[in-house]
Amino acid sequence: TEACLSAIEGASALNAFVHRTPERAQEMAAEADKRIRSGDAPALCGIPMGIKDLFCTKGVPSQAASRILENFVPEYESTVTQQLFDAGAVMLGKLNMDEFAMGSSNETSVYGNAVNPWRRGNEATELTPGGSSGGSASAVAAGLCLAATGTDTGGSIRQPAAFTGITGIKPTYGRCSRWGIVAFASSLDQAGPMTRDVRDAAIVLQAMCGHDPKDSTSADLPVPDFEAMLTGDIRGKTIGIPREYRMDGMPEEIEALWAEGRRMLEDAGARIVDISLPHTKYALPCYYVIAPAEASSNLARYDGVRYGHRAKLAQGDGIVEMYEKTRAEGFGPEVQRRVMVGTYVLSAGFYDAYYNRARKVRTLIKKDFEDAFAEGVDAILTPATPSAAFGLGEMTEADPVAMYLNDVFTVTVNLAGLPGISVPAGQDRSGLPLGLQLIGRPWEEGDLLNTAYALE
Ligand code: GLN
Repeated sequence: TEACLSAIEGASALNAFVHRTPERAQEMAAEADKRIRSGDAPALCGIPMGIKDLFCTKGVPSQAASRILENFVPEYESTVTQQLFDAGAVMLGKLNMDEFAMGSSNETSVYGNAVNPWRRGNEATELTPGGSSGGSASAVAAGLCLAATGTDTGGSIRQPAAFTGITGIKPTYGRCSRWGIVAFASSLDQAGPMTRDVRDAAIVLQAMCGHDPKDSTSADLPVPDFEAMLTGDIRGKTIGIPREYRMDGMPEEIEALWAEGRRMLEDAGARIVDISLPHTKYALPCYYVIAPAEASSNLARYDGVRYGHRAKLAQGDGIVEMYEKTRAEGFGPEVQRRVMVGTYVLSAGFYDAYYNRARKVRTLIKKDFEDAFAEGVDAILTPATPSAAFGLGEMTEADPVAMYLNDVFTVTVNLAGLPGISVPAGQDRSGLPLGLQLIGRPWEEGDLLNTAYALE
């Protein structure tokens, strides 16, 4: 804990931690020392972790990187962070992210962007750590903490993991409780760990999972011992390579990475089959209807009354002006865009044309995966991202849709509710890390982790 705290001090240029809790960390670490001495050390006893700002942490500011939650200090602890602390984890502080987890570069944060510890060769250009869990990725990659929590609605664990050379797993929808995590798109949001390697991911995920009666979508299923399942033996497993993920204009190095992953799994004794997931091309538009629709509804609660920021009002302003001014000041441009798109696709005249249509497409996307699994596929291998980390500002100058294209390989997994993992698997020409994604059957995170283990 002390080593991490001083590393965090020395790495403020990364802007990964947006709120530090050193005293609390020292206390928690001292408590962990006691437990270790008494021979009663749980799995994460004394492990220093960072917590994404999207998680409500009792008595510690939790702002979802938004101005609208300025000065919001929750009275309660999210289920997932409570479980981590029960397992002995030490909280070092809160981590940077895109505002309300909307983004792929951590550039929509009210705290300013986090920075990727990697550089292209000797270039000075600062790169994005990805998003939305950019602070989590940057902190783990730079060794500021041993693990971090992330959340993934459309790739926000897997894409930043790939951009920073670390491991990140989004478990099956319903595996981790969403209680106490600021909601973005409730039917897609899942928490998961971001770690240095697959074994750490298995250990931390174990502590995060489990049934929670406070989240109606949390699954009442036993949580297997994920670490014990890491045998590295994947002989006889069938790995599907979906042809629709081979896109026009895909950089050669991403192609090469994918081929290398395929070879590694084959060498480890897996059977590789080409598969088709025919509705893949509709995934991005489908996601960018459903996620904003749910977000517009979830974010309606930020009205200047119940939480955080309230705009200064002028003489004669009524409640409507208070809502309008507060929301105009409190939400950044990307969040406002999502609320407007979401409100539009849910409006009476367009509901059937957009929202209902997207829900039907979502069912088809899910069915594509079900069909592949029914044919005996155990896991699906794809690149995690269409490129390596890009420069800060590089994408924000383009139109917002260019940023959305980053999520092309990851959003299908959230739409289908499946577990997905990104593992570091190579480098681009300038030495930047690249990630491979494995997608697993529902509730089979243990198998998925073990397949990923074979790629390490
Ligand atoms: N980049 C995606 C978005 O902006 C995913 C975000 C996430 O997974 N939280 O919606």
